[in-house]
Amino acid sequence: MGDIDANRCVLGVDTGGTKTALAAVDGHGRILFSKTISSPSTDEKMMVKALLDLVDWGISESANKGLDVRGIGVGCAGFILRDEGILAESPHVTWSMVPLKRLVGEHAGLPTFLDNDANVAALGERLAGVCRGVDDFVYIAIGTGIGGAVCIGGEVYTGHRGTAGEMGHTIIEPGGPLCDCGNRGCLEAVAAGTALEREAARFMDEDETSILRKMCGGDRGKLTGEMISEAAEGGDQAALEAFDYVAGYLGLGLVNLIHLFDPEMVVLGGGVSHSGHLLLDKIRDVVKERGIPALVEGATIVLSTLGQDAGLVGSAALAWEGIGRLS
Ligand SMILES: [Zn+2]
Repeated sequence: MGDIDANRCVLGVDTGGTKTALAAVDGHGRILFSKTISSPSTDEKMMVKALLDLVDWGISESANKGLDVRGIGVGCAGFILRDEGILAESPHVTWSMVPLKRLVGEHAGLPTFLDNDANVAALGERLAGVCRGVDDFVYIAIGTGIGGAVCIGGEVYTGHRGTAGEMGHTIIEPGGPLCDCGNRGCLEAVAAGTALEREAARFMDEDETSILRKMCGGDRGKLTGEMISEAAEGGDQAALEAFDYVAGYLGLGLVNLIHLFDPEMVVLGGGVSHSGHLLLDKIRDVVKERGIPALVEGATIVLSTLGQDAGLVGSAALAWEGIGRLS
């Protein structure tokens, strides 16, 4: 990118159940400035208004800084009908069937693009993160739930309607724990943050010496991922067993994904990337043990390097990519 483009940027918007963030991002994926607000997630109208206000702020702040905004990318937790630009449904927000792409685009008068949070995070990792320049990879976002994206030949595979890549709801343990989607034994139900907390509580109940008992004041409902990570770092057996349980299922999920897509890289992102080192060895062991050698040996399993910025940088990457297609 030459000097002539130095003042060009796009606005990336990362919107979720608890917070919405906006950043101006340059063509290299660098964040120029950003702002985060809390999401009024229980009211659809307020949610949209807050988002549009934030976009207005981003546009005027860019003008103040002499930046030329070329477009807007919006990443949302939820199921997105990508071509229609509609947010169909979101697990932690009340909105449904919101034509978010049109609402933001018309309001701002700029080319606007919408996709789900995992798809944009994958684009972010490719623009400025751990898989820069890698064309074939799988991105798996592990937080409260599990999302993901499959990048094939440099493009995120979206499927027929735009909802592809929901690896969190592939069924991995028939008859296993109930998932938020209503099914049983989804990868999400045995390997996401809520599963980690549930299993840590179970192992804690069986282990009188576990530090987790003290950390949550004896109330298993108060156990958090941070507590379990901290306890595991300190060598607590119950916490380590909970990580081992989750990593075991993630390993199986990855075996399936690698067998299906033959990726060069599998990127683990989402909230879990903080404690990824507690999972990575076991995941790699399971992939080695259960994968077909000829199919899995070419895939490298790595942690996201963008961390919490993946959504913002990724939404911006979505906008850059979309503008590139328009021109
Ligand atoms: Zn499910």
